[in-house]
Amino acid sequence: GGGKTGAEIRELDAATVDRIAAGEVVERPASVVKELVENALDADASRIEVSVTGDGTDELIVRDDGIGMTRADAEAAIERHTTSKIRDADDLAHVGTLGFRGEALHTVAAVSRLTVTTKPREGGRGTEVRVAGGEVESVGPAGRAPGTTVTVRDLFYNTPARREFLNAESTEFGHVNRAVSRYALANPDVAVSLEHDGTETFATPGDGDVRSALLAVYGRDVAESMIRVNAAPEGAIERVRGYVSHPETTRSTRDYLATYVNGRYVSDRVLREAIVEAYGTQLAADRFPFAVLDVELRAREVDANVHPRKMEVRFEDEAGVREAVTDAVRDALREHGLVRTRAPRG
Ligand code: ADP
Ligand code: MG
Repeated sequence: GGGKTGAEIRELDAATVDRIAAGEVVERPASVVKELVENALDADASRIEVSVTGDGTDELIVRDDGIGMTRADAEAAIERHTTSKIRDADDLAHVGTLGFRGEALHTVAAVSRLTVTTKPREGGRGTEVRVAGGEVESVGPAGRAPGTTVTVRDLFYNTPARREFLNAESTEFGHVNRAVSRYALANPDVAVSLEHDGTETFATPGDGDVRSALLAVYGRDVAESMIRVNAAPEGAIERVRGYVSHPETTRSTRDYLATYVNGRYVSDRVLREAIVEAYGTQLAADRFPFAVLDVELRAREVDANVHPRKMEVRFEDEAGVREAVTDAVRDALREHGLVRTRAPRG
């Protein structure tokens, strides 16, 4: 029998390395949608249309009317670690855009058949770039209005293990819906729409009013129960701004606690707990409010470069952030007579 001696250590080819790395950034269709919507927002779009077929692996499309790309930029965008958003590690300390790693398009292109059609807002021709499994298949002219459309087909066709891991269509679309909703709520000045199998799920008007976006995404009952939060605490946080629901408008999951740091969605336990804490005993057991809450901090108070999926952050002063958020929400609830007493401060 063959012993374990003589095991060969080989260098993996670039395509294999890319596919392994893709698993870090692209977990499911919703992660692709998230990256593409962030790119559209970074591109100054005023309208973003997301369209998903089935569970999102067959086809998903994100269209925007943003600044677009030149032919050279569109070709470069597919390459690994190409970004127009930062130049070096120093820029990481004050990232102002949602993207910055320069790996999303490259990574998605490695595990799908991807088409980018784009035209610069500042004039110039339109371009179409087609990529399959990371290989550029064609680059040519395309007629279109300024902006960018990214079409992703056959997601994970060359990574069967990743495909296997996906859940039922309704679950995967639920993830897409929540992701698009979060950006729609955080960017009320952008008209964001979501379509599933040709049927509109929601469409925000892009009129700049968070309440209009809340109405479009969650419907009238939830939108009308939302209470405005707007505080400028002293210390780590410069501003806490957004909406939280009446203590009786709740759900049994934390999924509707949408928290943002400097306009970027983050899945953050500290912020979620800080919001819930503010309700005290007003909240029934195992019930969670709705929230759309943005926390503004100076860039050096927060490290966004914690996780490849960029949904996590680390705060310099976690306790200070927690207290400021709880105070801001509690003050808003108290103004509406929804919490009785000021909690004792230490
Ligand atoms: P990152 O967003 O981290 O820079 P991406 O791989 O997502 O990396 O995108 C690479 C580059 O492609 C971006 O920096 C940007 O210049 C360009 N790009 C991607 N999507 C768009 C878009 N929708 N509109 C305009 N430019 C885009
Ligand atoms: Mg990006």
